[in-house]
Amino acid sequence: MNTRLKETYKPAKRKNSLSVLGNAGGLDLAQDDIRLPEAAGNMRAPTRSGELREQLEQMILDGRLEPGERLDEMELARTFGLSRTPVREAIKALLAIGLVETRGRQGTHVAILSIPALIEMFDVMAALEGLCARFAARRATLAERAAMREVHKELVSAYEAGDPVAFYKVNQQFHDLLYEAAHTHFIADQAIQLRRRIGAYRLRATYQPGRMLSTLSEHVRIMDAIDAGDPEEARKAASEHVQLLGDQLTDFIASLPANMSRANRWQANNGHV
Ligand SMILES: [Zn+2]
Repeated sequence: MNTRLKETYKPAKRKNSLSVLGNAGGLDLAQDDIRLPEAAGNMRAPTRSGELREQLEQMILDGRLEPGERLDEMELARTFGLSRTPVREAIKALLAIGLVETRGRQGTHVAILSIPALIEMFDVMAALEGLCARFAARRATLAERAAMREVHKELVSAYEAGDPVAFYKVNQQFHDLLYEAAHTHFIADQAIQLRRRIGAYRLRATYQPGRMLSTLSEHVRIMDAIDAGDPEEARKAASEHVQLLGDQLTDFIASLPANMSRANRWQANNGHV
């Protein structure tokens, strides 16, 4: 079971990662290395470390870098043709959001979330998602509601094409629209940050058989509640959509790769659980 899922989950083997990186086109090495102050960085101006951070985040998300895998500064610098400073900055940014962790002398690794922590994160995610939907039911404009319906059509197409990777991306767009429609100043940011932390695990959940189909009907329930201006129903619908419930939860845990359980032992030995 695990092996099969892992094969589906990993689009590229580790040894191909260099060519995968080369084709991704996220880094323009010919571009001048423009250093920008932190404030400008927040306005999404691309810096080399910012681009590397995004690329590493993407690799963690799609499984090219697995939980527990070591991130070697020198190797990354060589691979991306960067000096060590931007590499260090990128890793620092990933540390700050909990996507990577340090293990003293063993260096930096892709963070491993223990199953109990992961379940709590899904719970928090469900609460945040519910809050956003509750606000959206009160505040969403007609244009925002229409945009959600439009993206939903794309999601149906991704389902019909049997493309879980596209499905995952479009699903994310749907939730982005939900957050915008909520018109919050803090809650949506928190939801997006947490989504980045558990993204790799949520992608795995998308691959659960039948999960895509139930997602479609759950989204319809959320949109209908928002259209009906029913905040409580919208909250419940969105929260239940994100929460792993009952059988879904046990299926999800069963789908986690073997290195998760090894990792749990490692964390237990180090008193982090
Ligand atoms: Zn969704």
